[in-house]
Amino acid sequence: MVPPAEPIRRIVVVGGGTAGWITAGVLAARFPQRGPAGVSVTLIESRTQPPIGVGEGTWPTIRSTLKQIGVSETDFLRECDASFKQGSKFVGWVDGSSADAYYHPFTLPVDYIERNLAPYWLEGPRHTRFAQSLCFQTRLCDHSLAPKQITTPEFAGLANYAYHLDAGKFVPFLQKHCIDKLNVTHILGEIVEVVADGAGGISELRTRSGTPLAGDLFIDCSGFAALLIGKHLGVPFVSCKDSLFVDKALAVQVPYPAEDAPIGSVTVSTARSAGWIWDIGLTSRRGVGYVYSSAYATEESAAAELRSYLGAEPAFRAININSGYRRELWVGNCVAVGLSAGFLEPLEASAIVMIELSAKSIAELLPGFRSGLPQAARTFNEVFQHRWRRIVEFLELHYVLSRRTEPFWVDNRQGSALADCWRQHSPWHEDFTQREEVFSAASFQYVLYGMGFEPEPTPWLLNEADRTRAREKMAEAARQGESLRATLPTNRDLLGRIRKYGLQKI
Ligand SMILES: Cc1cc2nc3c(=O)[nH]c(=O)nc-3n(C[C@H](O)[C@H](O)[C@H](O)COP(=O)(O)OP(=O)(O)OC[C@H]3O[C@@H](n4cnc5c(N)ncnc54)[C@H](O)[C@@H]3O)c2cc1C
Repeated sequence: MVPPAEPIRRIVVVGGGTAGWITAGVLAARFPQRGPAGVSVTLIESRTQPPIGVGEGTWPTIRSTLKQIGVSETDFLRECDASFKQGSKFVGWVDGSSADAYYHPFTLPVDYIERNLAPYWLEGPRHTRFAQSLCFQTRLCDHSLAPKQITTPEFAGLANYAYHLDAGKFVPFLQKHCIDKLNVTHILGEIVEVVADGAGGISELRTRSGTPLAGDLFIDCSGFAALLIGKHLGVPFVSCKDSLFVDKALAVQVPYPAEDAPIGSVTVSTARSAGWIWDIGLTSRRGVGYVYSSAYATEESAAAELRSYLGAEPAFRAININSGYRRELWVGNCVAVGLSAGFLEPLEASAIVMIELSAKSIAELLPGFRSGLPQAARTFNEVFQHRWRRIVEFLELHYVLSRRTEPFWVDNRQGSALADCWRQHSPWHEDFTQREEVFSAASFQYVLYGMGFEPEPTPWLLNEADRTRAREKMAEAARQGESLRATLPTNRDLLGRIRKYGLQKI
C-alpha cells in the first residue's frame, strides 16, 4: 500500500482572543510532541486589533478545559479576578412583577439520572418554584455562597459550578500558559492575504510585513472579522435575527459599593423593555450590560434604562451583535471557532462553551493525513450545526414564554409554536440525541417551568411509586440545601482565602 502523503503537522490558529488561546491550548496539550517528528501549534494575532474583551460568564465545562490544559485553579482565580458561577437568575422575564424571578442552576434536578420527576412537581401544590423544589443549589445562590470549601481540591465542587471571569485578564493568562507551558509559538502580525492551495484549501497566510505562514490545518479564531471562513472561503452566514431580536449591547464595569459587598453566585439576567441586562460579580468589580434590539429602543433610551438599573451615570461601551452562525464550520483544512463561527447573544453564556466543545472535537477528530480531512469536516459540521440549532431553540424559549407587554416581548412570542412540543411531555433524556448537548433536558425543564409554562395535565401517565419517590427526593434536596447552607463559606470569604492560601492541588 502506498503510504498516504501530507501528514497534518502544522496547526495555525488565527486570532489571539479567548477562542484562539483556548483552541491553541487544547490542541497543544493534546498533541504535546514538538519538533520535526511532532506537531507544531502556532498562533498569530494582529497587534492592532485587540480581542473583543467581553464574555465573562462561562459554563461548567470550563473546569475540565482548564484542567485539561494544565492550568492551576488557584492561579486562574487569582489572576483573572474570577469568581464562582452556579447558574443564572432570571428576573422579570415572566411578567415583570415584583416576585418574578427564577433560577437556572448548574446542578441537575434531584434524581435526574434515574427518573423524570418534573411531572410530579407539576401536579403538586407547588409551594416552591421548580428549581427550588428539585435542586438544592438555589439555596446557596440565595445567600451568595461558594460551591466548595477551602479544603475542596482544585476543580472539585460540592455543587456544580463555572466561573465569572475578567475577559481582559483571561486572554493574557491563557497566552502566558500556552507559550510557557505548552510550547505554542506566538506571532504578532496582521494577516492581509490568504493563499489558496488549489484544492479548496488554504496553503499559507501572508502578513502585512510579507512574512508567509504555511500550515496544514488553519483554525479561524479571528472574531467577527471571520478572515478565513467568511472573507476567504465565503461560507454563508445563517442569520438568526428573525427569531433572536437583540442586535446591540451597552457594556460597563462597575465598582462594588463596599469592599465586603457580596459577590453573587449567579449571572443575574434582568428583563427590560427591549431586551435584558446582565450583571456579573467578579472579585474586583461587577460587569454589567444591556443587550437590546435597536428596532425597539434607541441607544439613548437603552442607556437611560441601564443608568436607572445601575443608579449611576457611567460611560458605556457600545457593541454590535449580528446573531447567527456559519452554514459550515469546517471546510477543507479550515475550521472556524469562536465569533468567526457565530454568535447568537450573551444569554446563557453559550459562546465560550461552544469554543471549548469545538477545540475538543477538533482534537478528537484530527486526522493524521490530509486525506482524512473531508470525513472529519463532515462529522464536525453535522454535530455543530445541530448544536447551533439547539442553542437557538433554547434561547428563543426564554422569550416566547414571557407574558410581558412591551412591543419587544409581544413580538417575540408572535406565531411561535416553540413550546408546543413540551405541552404533553416534559423534556427528558430521549429528546436529546447527542452525547454532549450544550443544553440538556435539565436546562429546558428549568427554563420552561421557571417561566411558568403549563403543560396539559396527564395524571393517567403517572404512578404512585414515583409520586412517593418525588416527595422523598424533593425533601432530600431541601435537607441537602440546608446542610450546605450551614457549612459553606460566602463567595467573597472563600475567594479571599484562596487568594491568601490557595486551594489543594489535585
Ligand atoms: C456583548 C457580548 C457579551 C458576551 N458575553 C458572553 C458571555 O457572558 N459568555 C460567553 O460565553 N460569551 C460571551 N460573549 C462571546 C465572547 O465574548 C466570545 O465568544 C469570546 O470572547 C471569543 O471571541 P473570539 O476569540 O472569537 O474573538 P476576539 O476576541 O474578537 O479575537 C479575535 C482575534 O483575531 C485577531 N485578528 C482579527 N483580524 C486579524 C488579522 N487580519 N490578522 C491577524 N489577527 C487578526 C485579533 O487580533 C484578535 O486577537 C459575549 C459577546 C458579546 C458581543
